Amino acid sequence: MRLGRAGNKGHVIPGTVLGRAGRILLDFALPPRCAACGTIVADVDLFCGSCWPEIHFLSGGCQRCAQPLEATEAELCGACHVDAGALDRIRAAVEYGEAARSIAIRLKYGRKTGLARTMAAYMRRPLGDLPPDALLVPVPLHRVRLWERGFNQAALIARQLQKTSGNPADMMLLQRVKRTPKLKGMSPAERRRAVSGAFAVRQGQEVRGRSIILVDDVYTTGSTAEACARLLKRKGAASVDLIAWARVVRPTVVNG
Ligand SMILES: [Zn+2]
Ligand SMILES: [Zn+2]
Repeated sequence: MRLGRAGNKGHVIPGTVLGRAGRILLDFALPPRCAACGTIVADVDLFCGSCWPEIHFLSGGCQRCAQPLEATEAELCGACHVDAGALDRIRAAVEYGEAARSIAIRLKYGRKTGLARTMAAYMRRPLGDLPPDALLVPVPLHRVRLWERGFNQAALIARQLQKTSGNPADMMLLQRVKRTPKLKGMSPAERRRAVSGAFAVRQGQEVRGRSIILVDDVYTTGSTAEACARLLKRKGAASVDLIAWARVVRPTVVNG
């Protein structure tokens, strides 16, 4: 990595000199830290001894949404049985809990962009074998939010999944054309109204017949991903799946 000669006297390079791209590179160069709490650990993509037991990996469960099944349920969970929605499949690496949430927050607000690689590494298994032409598409941020934050965390994860799966990705396929309020506390009908018309497919992009894999950091109420899926299906997408780092699992209270 060449950092240039911007008058640096020591090893400390101010973020303002290095810029955002440089800080992202530095994230990869520093000693590995626990993804959830930041304690230094032996290797990249590992968790420390106290966070590890708090990470609950998801496997099996509902064939559509990966929700752990109850004894009375076979193949599909009760919710998917009643109303499957526009998403064909929902997959997540871990259950949304304190440690999983902390990783997502450290990426998004703590700007620990290297965590996208850790999350993507754990998302490969639930993602499974993809058709080679399946297109990875991050759930988009509104351009104002993108400008404020400087990056879309879902796009960082999608980029890492693209690297490890070899599948194509289109970071700009979906656009968020309407700013949406916080969905927390809303009824399902209110959430549906809030995200209605919030997304658009970038002009000139064709999704007819495509298999789309939406990528997001966390899956909570599902309203946002559903709105994206409804739009893509309306535009003729053959299938729309979602892969997230973490998903809310019943009966956990949604708080994100
Ligand atoms: Zn930890
Ligand atoms: Zn289900």
